Amino acid sequence: MSFNIAIDGPSGAGKSTIAKRLANELSFVYVDTGAMYRAMALYFLREGIDPSDEAAISGACEKIDITLAYEDGVQCVILNGENVNAYIRAEEVGNMASHTSVYPSVRAKLTALQQKLAKSSNVIMDGRDIGTCVLPDAQLKIYLTAEVSARARRRYNELIKKGVEADYAQIEADIRERDYRDMHRDIAPLRQAEDAIFVDSSELSVEEVLAVLGKLYEKAEKKGAAGTNKQPQ
Ligand code: C5P
Repeated sequence: MSFNIAIDGPSGAGKSTIAKRLANELSFVYVDTGAMYRAMALYFLREGIDPSDEAAISGACEKIDITLAYEDGVQCVILNGENVNAYIRAEEVGNMASHTSVYPSVRAKLTALQQKLAKSSNVIMDGRDIGTCVLPDAQLKIYLTAEVSARARRRYNELIKKGVEADYAQIEADIRERDYRDMHRDIAPLRQAEDAIFVDSSELSVEEVLAVLGKLYEKAEKKGAAGTNKQPQ
């Protein structure tokens, strides 16, 4: 049986940075589910589909094929045969993903793909609904969050470092708006699973978060092994 780690949390909490590094350390497959929602959003944007037109979104879902490939350990999202990694990080795509991820047709398609991946490999999967809906039996669940100001500051610094002009107030407002939408939608809203461990990264460096998660993994792994070796009474 594969060992699955679910990491959920709001935008900018550091999920993907942490999940990627941990996957590398543990030789797990990293699955960035946000990238999948973004790839679908990219398709809708390219086709000029109105995000409020549910029928058009559902119809388009049937024309979309999403797969994952790994090149030098880096996850590549393949949209209808095209590697779209270079396009999915734009703010416009993230906002479209946040609007279109509310629809059952979009979620059903990606949830099935995510569950299939987790069945065949040890995965670290990050997203919004992994511990609550996609992998309810994951052996380790983390809810990784940070204060809005810390998340906005990180995003701002990331953009400035890339030489992209950025407006801090706008970034903070976008984060608040996206949090609200992700947490208040009808299907699979972002929330902490009952058995998830809460980690606040506001005051922690990447190395510190990794150390915390490394310890939690060791504990969960031991627990799993003890469960496997348990003799029937
Ligand atoms: O994590 P990331 O910012 O790449 O995700 C983009 C959007 O995709 C999120 O704002 C959220 O609306 C959606 N998403 C989701 N469920 C997931 C992962 C992402 O609804 N498991």
